[in-house]
Amino acid sequence: MLENDISIIVPVYNEEGNLSELYNRLTKTLESISNKYQIIFVNDGSNDDSFVKILAFAENNPKVFYLNLSRNFGHQIAVSAGLEYCNAKCTVIIDSDLQDPPELISELYAKYREGFDVVYAKRKKRKGESFLKKLTAKLYYRLLKRWVSFEIPLDAGDFRLISKKVVNAINNMPEQNKFLRAQIAWLGFKQTNVLFNRETRKHGESGYSYSKMFRLAFDGITGFSDKPLLYVSRLGFVISIFSFLVIIYAIFSHYVLKETITGWTSLIISAAFIGGIQLLSIGVIGEYISRINTNVKGRPLYIIDATNIDCDIDNKS
Ligand code: UDP
Ligand code: MG
Repeated sequence: MLENDISIIVPVYNEEGNLSELYNRLTKTLESISNKYQIIFVNDGSNDDSFVKILAFAENNPKVFYLNLSRNFGHQIAVSAGLEYCNAKCTVIIDSDLQDPPELISELYAKYREGFDVVYAKRKKRKGESFLKKLTAKLYYRLLKRWVSFEIPLDAGDFRLISKKVVNAINNMPEQNKFLRAQIAWLGFKQTNVLFNRETRKHGESGYSYSKMFRLAFDGITGFSDKPLLYVSRLGFVISIFSFLVIIYAIFSHYVLKETITGWTSLIISAAFIGGIQLLSIGVIGEYISRINTNVKGRPLYIIDATNIDCDIDNKS
């Protein structure tokens, strides 16, 4: 039985400065929508006082739940954990740094009531993010869009509402390397968007280091497209043909024209070039193999240290 009309999943990593305002604005918005709501805070191994704050919210409000993960597993996994435990007709994923305005949930919910299964919040403006981040994100999503065979919405993060149907489908996707926004796009269903201005982070620092961002970007590509493998093999083919022609020319000029080409420069350039291309190709193949490795190991995605959710209840009904 679905107990709630709406469930909110909030991944939290070192957000002590933002949680109180977030909680107040969230509950205010939710109460105006329905009194059958739940908020699930997923504490992703914060090393500040975030969890203490979450425990206080839960103590005062029986609609607040928490999953305290045993360490930092990363944003996508924290949200995936929340998705496995939520129990409502629809679920909203929202960042805890107040970049995603909680008030927009009313608009997302209104669209859900119109019959949409996925309502994603599309960014009109992104305040306070570096030029480099905006540029790389823009280029990356345009590239990804060309490489996959389904529609990926541009200028949208994970701030969105999804219906229970979508939550169930996501929970049944077996991959270990999560890239939720593309997984949801891959699923299809009736999708729409609501526009909003993305604010700057209120307090604290971004938990997404460059290495986490690269990991996410690679997971997005290797999880949804085999194009890099295709391009690498094509590149190998083109370079082989070119090398073959150069060899023929070298033999021809030695035996027929009697001109032996001397020169260290040409040699070192071609050796370095081929070496570079080979390493790049092995790296691309390695990315795919590493995915296979992760998936074969089949470890649990996350470990829960503490929760106030009754785990014996079958949340997937
Ligand atoms: N987050 C998380 N685990 C992490 C990194 C981030 O749960 O390892 C949470 C973080 O608390 C926030 C959301 O994921 O609610 C988005 O992270 P952040 O604001 O740091 O990313 P950015 O907006 O800079 O891309
Ligand atoms: Mg943020």
